[in-house]
Amino acid sequence: MHCGEAEADGTNFLLPFRTTAGRSKALTMPYNDPLARLLRGISIFLPPIIHLSMPELPEVETVRRGLERRVLGRIISTVHILSPWVIRSDPRRFPREIEGCRVERLRRKGKTLALELESENSTPSRYLIVRLGMTGQLTVAPTESPLLPHTHVRLLLDDGYEELRYRDPRRFGMLRCSTPAEAEKIFHSLGPDALEISQEEFEQALRGHRGAIKGWLLDQSMLAGLGNIYADEALFEARIHPQTPAGKIPGNARILLHRAIRKVLQRAVNLQGTSFRDYIDIEGRPGNFEPRLRVYGREDKPCPRCSTPIRRVAVCGRSSHFCPRCQPRPRRIAPPGRPRKKQQ
Ligand SMILES: [Zn+2]
Repeated sequence: MHCGEAEADGTNFLLPFRTTAGRSKALTMPYNDPLARLLRGISIFLPPIIHLSMPELPEVETVRRGLERRVLGRIISTVHILSPWVIRSDPRRFPREIEGCRVERLRRKGKTLALELESENSTPSRYLIVRLGMTGQLTVAPTESPLLPHTHVRLLLDDGYEELRYRDPRRFGMLRCSTPAEAEKIFHSLGPDALEISQEEFEQALRGHRGAIKGWLLDQSMLAGLGNIYADEALFEARIHPQTPAGKIPGNARILLHRAIRKVLQRAVNLQGTSFRDYIDIEGRPGNFEPRLRVYGREDKPCPRCSTPIRRVAVCGRSSHFCPRCQPRPRRIAPPGRPRKKQQ
């Protein structure tokens, strides 16, 4: 058995591995399980033979744009729930709450998607919140087309010739029907969206944080939308080492990082995101950004700027890819309160 690169979605921990027969499998457990903690610690030393990436902002934005083209203004006429566990609100009430509603608006903050629904019979509006987790897929398909395995929810549209399908092989994603107040609370728990945050807000948010910048970028309550792929790419673009303490990044570098995040994300949105395995857009097509990745998943390959081999290190329990020459390690900062040694 060979282990792959461990991944996590915040609540679950997943360690992919390949059996001697060459089949890909994954071990999953709650993120804070003691065994998960141990495996998180050691998995970084294992060779990454399987890259399991989860949809990040560009992939979710691509899905949102696809929904805007194919589903906006249409009525959800019938709901079929094939796996009730995927519904995080009451699954018995779920069909009643959204059947007959028109999709009025599509919102996204970070990796969270919300379909704003308006009912014809003047009941208050509802939100269908969608999190794709690691392998969630939303696609529009003709109702008579065969269902793929792991299809969990079918939302028939208008007269029922087409439907919106939710499929999720690894089962970390979820759908939830929320009131506007509940939806606001969910959005409020997230930091500013990584594509919309202003430079001033970004600089303000970094202030005072002693932890590594890589961990800060992945913390959705600080900045919503980045995962492992685009955090590594943005740090490379800005020439910042992933272990640099977030609050100690100098002013110029902070400006460069803010620009780099937007540039990398925008470029990925324009290319419909990155597909390593499961991510597809609303029409079932994979993203096109993978060939443009400069450091993520490129361990030991030459840096596209200086040809130094790309390295992988563990930062905050996650693997980070960087160029040791373009992104030099920050000099050790003396612990607070301890006087610096005088130079002789
Ligand atoms: Zn380099």
